[in-house]
Amino acid sequence: MSPNALTATTWYDQTGIAPPQTMALADLAPAYDTVIVGGGLAGLSLLWHLAEAGVSAALLDAGRIAGGASGRNGGFCSAGWAAGEDQVIRLVGKGKAAVLEDAASGGVRWMRERMGRKGYEGADPKVGILTVSLSGRPPAVMDAASRLLTGAALKAETTSPRYRYGFHSDGGVQFHPLNFMRALAGDALGAGQAIVEGAKIDRIDRQGSRLAVTSGRKTIQADRVVLATGGYGGPETGGLSRLLLPIRTYIGVTDPMPDILSEHIPTRAGVDDTRRAGNYYRRLPDGRLLWGLGITAFGTLEVEAVRRMVAKDIGNIYPGLARDMHKAAVGIDTAWAGNMGYAHHFMPYVGEIEPGLFTIAGFGGHGMNTAPAAAIALSKALLGEPAALEPFSAIPRQATFGPIGAVAAEASYRWRQMNDRLAEALS
Ligand SMILES: Cc1cc2nc3c(=O)[nH]c(=O)nc-3n(C[C@H](O)[C@H](O)[C@H](O)COP(=O)(O)OP(=O)(O)OC[C@H]3O[C@@H](n4cnc5c(N)ncnc54)[C@H](O)[C@@H]3O)c2cc1C
Repeated sequence: MSPNALTATTWYDQTGIAPPQTMALADLAPAYDTVIVGGGLAGLSLLWHLAEAGVSAALLDAGRIAGGASGRNGGFCSAGWAAGEDQVIRLVGKGKAAVLEDAASGGVRWMRERMGRKGYEGADPKVGILTVSLSGRPPAVMDAASRLLTGAALKAETTSPRYRYGFHSDGGVQFHPLNFMRALAGDALGAGQAIVEGAKIDRIDRQGSRLAVTSGRKTIQADRVVLATGGYGGPETGGLSRLLLPIRTYIGVTDPMPDILSEHIPTRAGVDDTRRAGNYYRRLPDGRLLWGLGITAFGTLEVEAVRRMVAKDIGNIYPGLARDMHKAAVGIDTAWAGNMGYAHHFMPYVGEIEPGLFTIAGFGGHGMNTAPAAAIALSKALLGEPAALEPFSAIPRQATFGPIGAVAAEASYRWRQMNDRLAEALS
């Protein structure tokens, strides 16, 4: 039987820098000011901000650091939220939406600034995102940082016969997310914070004015606990588990094919598209193609099924590339899945959900800028500036209704795919 894609080894694992030396659960102190549950980008960036402010915190992860979505994603970091701008305005109003959009751009700046630091060389950032459209006409007004590409200029970047136009922006970057997370964890450890791997939090109990966090036989006390569990949290996360759905999405990486790639996809930018249920891809430094697509709300595809799905999608967008891959016996080498935490409205939950219990989760498929943006706001609030959370507090809490919500999520995805096809056929 082919292995399950959710636990499969990724290209990032194969090319990752050495992970930092974390602590044993037994060596934790009996009490911390703040305990963070979850070692993805949300938890790690919060841990770092608290370190900068001199607040002692411990972070515990059920698996490895960045073993969840943060270390196995597409590696695109660009502005915006998983919810589109209009949706954010509908949810929180124009004023707060503008603050949230600014924060999301601040998240990109924070990431890029860190990627330029010593110790982050393995993150290997490359500036430039090319957003392509398979239907319609270019927007009448483009943001000043984007360059419109049509005709020969577009063909010089991508030879797909399906793209109508594209715009290139230097605002976003592509990078090696696992190496970034390992460097960030190393910085937090170096600043004296505690990180424990392989420590699933089983329960969180109230003990007087404090919270008691239990993992196996170990219990530690905390003034505050922050749930940064993304799409991996279970019933132990209490009310948060009723607000988020774990949605799986998939990536495949080809065998190396530098020359074939240069012929069919000359661009060095990361490419995504404007479809509601689209895909994204980028050239990796060793001449492979990383290709991401698809969601499932139930079960997880096996690695072999992801390989087939990726190969088929490459053929749909680049028939010529697929033919040349076939001729040169270039296959899909590694394939994997990851969980994203999605709220009904696609926006995260950031703030206090019970006295002393905070959440920073639900970044969906757009967390590489928004998780650190939210961590900046939450750390300010934890340090005595509650107004920093105001725009997040306006995001309504909406139940996802477990399996019923999952059926709705899959149906909505198929609906979006159908609309995408229709839009392409009609334009
Ligand atoms: C395949 C894929 C591709 C993506 N591509 C992109 C992209 O290109 N750009 C982008 O911006 N976003 C992308 N995303 C989304 C992005 O990766 C996520 O939004 C982001 O990583 C979420 O970070 P997080 O810290 O909230 O969650 P995670 O990184 O998932 O971390 C959550 C952690 O919590 C831990 N945990 C859960 N429960 C417990 C418990 N009880 N005790 C202890 N630990 C626990 C888990 O082990 C896990 O490590 C992608 C996601 C996937 C899956």
